[in-house]
Amino acid sequence: MSIKSNIAALKQELGSATLIAVSKTKPVEALEEAYAAGQRDFGENYVQELVDKQARLPHDIRWHFIGHLQSNKVKYLAPFVHLIHGVDSYKLLQEINKQAAKNARVIDCLLQVYIAQEQTKFGFDAADLQALLNSQRLADLQHVRVRGLMGMASNTADTARVSAEFRQLAELFATLQNYRGGNLQPDYLSGGMSADYALALAEGCNMVRIGSTIFGERNYTR
Ligand SMILES: *Cc1c(COP(=O)(O)O)cnc(C)c1O
Repeated sequence: MSIKSNIAALKQELGSATLIAVSKTKPVEALEEAYAAGQRDFGENYVQELVDKQARLPHDIRWHFIGHLQSNKVKYLAPFVHLIHGVDSYKLLQEINKQAAKNARVIDCLLQVYIAQEQTKFGFDAADLQALLNSQRLADLQHVRVRGLMGMASNTADTARVSAEFRQLAELFATLQNYRGGNLQPDYLSGGMSADYALALAEGCNMVRIGSTIFGERNYTR
C-alpha cells in the first residue's frame, strides 16, 4: 500500500469528516507524497518539527498542532498555525490570544476535553468547561476563536468503553452549541486516531487525526 492509496481509501470511508494526516516523526518526503495525493491538512505534535516542516513544504498546507502545547512555544506557531487542537487550560488560551494579537491574527482552537479513564491525558473536564462557558472569560480573548472540542479516548481494546468516551465528548459538544456566538463557533469535533476512528465517527466526530494508517508505523528513535 502507498501513502496515496491509503489516503484515497480513508477519504472514501470518512465521507464529509475532515482528515488530518498526522505526520510526526515522518520525513518531509512522506508529506510531499501525501500532498501530491491532494492532502492539505497535516497534524504535528512537536513545535520545532512542525516549524521546520512548514518552512520546507508548500504554503497552502493547513498545519494542525495536535500535541501538548507549552505556553512558551506558542509564539513559534502563531504566525501561521491553522488550528490548535490540544488547548487544555485558560492560561494557554490567554497566551495564544496574546501571540495571535502580535501577529494581527485570530487563531482557531479546540478545547481538549478529558474523556479517558487514564491519568496521563490532559484536558478540561465537564465541570471546567461549564465554568468557562458560564463566565465572560472567553469573550475577553478577541484573538482566539474556539471552534470545538478535541478528545482522546482510552487506549484499550474495550470498544464499548471507547465508544462511551466519544459519546461523552459528543454530548459536551452538543452542550457547547447552546453558547454559540462571538468567538465561540463550535463546528469541529476532533476525535479518533488509527485505532479508533470508526468508533469516533459513529459517535459524531467530524475530524479525525490519522497517522500510522497513512504513513505506516512510527519508530520512536527520535
Ligand atoms: C500520534 C497522534 C495521532 C495519530 O495516531 P495514529 O495512531 O498514528 O493514527 C492522533 N492524535 C494525537 C493527539 C496523536 O498524538
